[in-house]
Amino acid sequence: MKFQEFLERYIHVRPCPGCTSRVSWEHAEDAFCTECREKWDRAKTESCKNCFQAYSDCVCMPKRLEHAGALVLRKLLRYSSKRQKEPQNRILYVLKRKPNRRYSRFLASELLPLVREELKALEIESSEALLTYIPRGRKSNIKYGTDQSESVTRALSVLCEVPFANTLHRKWGGKEQKRLSARERQKNLRQLFSVEDPSLVKGKVVLLFDDVVTSGASMATCVSLLKKAGASAVLCFCVAQTE
Ligand SMILES: [Zn+2]
Ligand SMILES: [Zn+2]
Repeated sequence: MKFQEFLERYIHVRPCPGCTSRVSWEHAEDAFCTECREKWDRAKTESCKNCFQAYSDCVCMPKRLEHAGALVLRKLLRYSSKRQKEPQNRILYVLKRKPNRRYSRFLASELLPLVREELKALEIESSEALLTYIPRGRKSNIKYGTDQSESVTRALSVLCEVPFANTLHRKWGGKEQKRLSARERQKNLRQLFSVEDPSLVKGKVVLLFDDVVTSGASMATCVSLLKKAGASAVLCFCVAQTE
């Protein structure tokens, strides 16, 4: 056994983000252990209650996102806060707290076919498009030292060869969304985000990423802002959508 192989087999062991069991040497390139990978793949085939298609094929989106002018919302699977122990929840949880290039790359490679499909369907060249993400609050950014959406978007940009840009700016603070009424939330969100440099997005097809889409309110706000800044179309992508 070569020294490098020895190191990787016995020293550089790493836990699976889904179940914390050791990931075997043969699966060193995958994010999950075999069992969790199977669960992850099964979750992608779970069917949407609205269109009955597998989640990874479903294009249903919250009404407000439609109204904001998003062309499509693609996702890999369904998110449920009740499934904390499932690998899909675990990987998002882990990534939120600690930067991990392997997990970001894994999620990006899973999203890649969806991005390619959409670009192909709309006959858009990679160079006409732009990849961007919804920034998380600065407080959590400082606390955890990472923005998981940014790292996944950057990894995706490398894979699909669509240029990456930081287009959305999120202000400090802002009121806590939970305590506000629906109307106040909308107003709060509109004040929270802005496009600092419209020339970046003008005339571009913008691919907008967020890790989890729940009500779609933040995403809808960002879609409107990007369109107002001159984006010719906005396509949305996420890892998971809450039902
Ligand atoms: Zn596992
Ligand atoms: Zn659907």
